[in-house]
Amino acid sequence: MIAIDPRSVLVVWAALNILFAGMLALVGMQARNVKGVKQWATGDLLIGIALGIGSQISYPATPLMAGSAAILLGLGLGLIYNGIEAFEGRRCRYWIPVLLATTIIANSFIFGLLFFESKTRIFINFLAFAVIHGMCARALFIRIEQPLRTAYWLAASSMSIICLLAIARLVSVALTPADEISMFSATGVNPIVFLFGSLAQMSVSFAFMLMINYTLAHQLNMLATTDVLTGLFNRRRFEEEAKRQISHSKRTGESLSIMMIDVDHFKHINDQFGHPAGDEVLRKIASLMQAMVRNNDFVARYGGEEFCVLLPATSEAQAYVLGERLRRSYSDLVIPWQHHLLKGTISIGIASNENDRATEIEAQQLDALIAAADVALYHAKNHGRDQVTCYSSCQSTATELSETPIGISH
Ligand code: GH3
Ligand code: MG
Ligand code: MG
Repeated sequence: MIAIDPRSVLVVWAALNILFAGMLALVGMQARNVKGVKQWATGDLLIGIALGIGSQISYPATPLMAGSAAILLGLGLGLIYNGIEAFEGRRCRYWIPVLLATTIIANSFIFGLLFFESKTRIFINFLAFAVIHGMCARALFIRIEQPLRTAYWLAASSMSIICLLAIARLVSVALTPADEISMFSATGVNPIVFLFGSLAQMSVSFAFMLMINYTLAHQLNMLATTDVLTGLFNRRRFEEEAKRQISHSKRTGESLSIMMIDVDHFKHINDQFGHPAGDEVLRKIASLMQAMVRNNDFVARYGGEEFCVLLPATSEAQAYVLGERLRRSYSDLVIPWQHHLLKGTISIGIASNENDRATEIEAQQLDALIAAADVALYHAKNHGRDQVTCYSSCQSTATELSETPIGISH
């Protein structure tokens, strides 16, 4: 059995806490929109200082040293809990660290100075540590999607280990004669509590770093793939998904349809009622589309006032039915804007890969599909707007178009 010196472990433990506090502070400066990092950094710093003071205590302890270590430890542990609350988007209950510190200091005063009941004092202190770590574990063991769950559950399990170690120490204190109890005794469960406690706390700090990291990655991914105004996926994400759907459609033989939607005379709305009114119309169209499509259909904002919908396992004829429903719903929709009621129409072009699954490269097939939907949309615009057109029903226009040389018309 390796001999463990609790005092040396405490020094390393203190140093690690201060190191982690510094790292969390550096991370927090860059990750300003991740909540809770400030509380974790401050909490770790206070715990580090408390453990540092604790490692230097000699018996009988001076009230100043023991008292300051106790206050800092209580505040630090409470702040770690506050950090978890803030990270999860809840309000921090700052009375928790204050209550914890007050309990520990009152305990030291009553049972340490007044009654010299060190057994009761240590028992109550470790009960407080067990409770706060149990609360942290409880707040972290929640249902959350991956990969955040791995980080949350790592922190939660580490917190539970510290909670169990505190209970083990508490029980051993209760069973040991008062004159044999010492914080630095190298026998019984004490060295184990110190060694595994410090390891578990290190693992908590790693888990916090992971939680911050995953949250930042998620935020970045959201920024890169969604449109801020409507909350729909953006063009880049749409193209990614479309290529995936095209290769899936090739494998299964199911047809994939694309619907291209453009608002009619949208410029008039902007010119007459202002840009914010135009924005409101775009948001309303986005939510209308999302409400009307199936769960596995994929709606995206393709450009300014153009939207695209990917319809897996849907033929052109089926897509037409949905397109008509969408067109009618929008023309019936009244959008209140300040003192006005806005009404408008949309044009829709539809294309499907029913007859063209031979093209090898997904990107080429996607370009061809989008070009076909665009031709259909152009046809709808040229034939009076407020209508749905399928590519297969306007192929003659497509031939005319492809034969027209590119140039500027006057
Ligand atoms: P058409 O029926 O031929 O489609 O006519 P249109 O007026 O809709 O013509 P066009 O497609 O050229 O107009 C697009 C307009 O959409 C021009 C641009 O100012 C506006 N727009 C693009 N993005 C936004 C946006 O995010 N918000 C607002 N309010 N307007 C936008
Ligand atoms: Mg338009
Ligand atoms: Mg347009």
